[in-house]
Amino acid sequence: MSAPDFSYRGRFAPSPTGLLHAGSLTTAVGSYLEARSRGGQWLLRMEDLDPPREMPGAATNILRTLEAFGFEWDGEVVYQSQRHHLYRAALEQLIRQGDAYGCGCSRKEISAHGLRGLDGMVYPGTCRHGLAPGRSPRAWRLKVPDRTLGFEDRLQGYYAQQLQQDIGDFVLLRADGFWAYQLAVVVDDIEQGISDIVRGADLLVSTPRQLWLRQCLGGPAISHCHLPLMVNLAGEKLSKQTLAPAISPRLAADELRLALLRLGHAAPADVQSLAELWSWALTHWSLSRVPAGPVVIG
Ligand code: GLU
Repeated sequence: MSAPDFSYRGRFAPSPTGLLHAGSLTTAVGSYLEARSRGGQWLLRMEDLDPPREMPGAATNILRTLEAFGFEWDGEVVYQSQRHHLYRAALEQLIRQGDAYGCGCSRKEISAHGLRGLDGMVYPGTCRHGLAPGRSPRAWRLKVPDRTLGFEDRLQGYYAQQLQQDIGDFVLLRADGFWAYQLAVVVDDIEQGISDIVRGADLLVSTPRQLWLRQCLGGPAISHCHLPLMVNLAGEKLSKQTLAPAISPRLAADELRLALLRLGHAAPADVQSLAELWSWALTHWSLSRVPAGPVVIG
């Protein structure tokens, strides 16, 4: 192990839309080991921002499952549902700076332009320079610059997007009144002083816009590492929607062994108990062994 890096602050940020499954557990294991093997901190943030999509009891279940696996987090768990004032303050700052604007367009109007990007429809910019007379804002959007924004991911390598063409001005406060994940995640990572984001590769596509938002809010530089996507035999990302089964804390040692294997770390057969597996993983962990590409979970 190298010298402890006291400035390293990592986090795991599950959304309680379902229980932990093999994919989310593997992400938690990777982000935990990267933080702890560097002597850094590891924070836990519950991203309970979207009540209609949440599953009753999932937040508590996720915490109990993480405990049963032996994860130890620093400080209290942070709940996004209790941080709306921070998101409001950030939006107000962005509006004051001229970076955010109210948008009166409906989903149908946006689709009618037919501009498809890397992550859904690209907003055509209709309300960018002001709302048409008689219109009121439904959602609030961030203006993105007409340029390429790239970054060096510690596992995936260089990744860049042309923000206006690939993503477009994106939503910060949704028309249904809920805060967008994109805003909350950046505000919280800045506010909690996170230095290193280690998360699943499904969020790679969100990263350039999050880096732009971070810049607009005056946040410091941050490092990213996107762990391989966990997919089922049909090639779909494991999720509640693709019916990924919840992991069982009763089988914690077996599940941890499998998660380590998916991350390129095959624990020897004589390393058996949960405590032994963690201790083996902490001494052997190296990002250089983690595969970048998708991992199939049968
Ligand atoms: N809450 C997000 C999810 O569960 C993760 C956010 C992040 O790690 O940036 O997919």
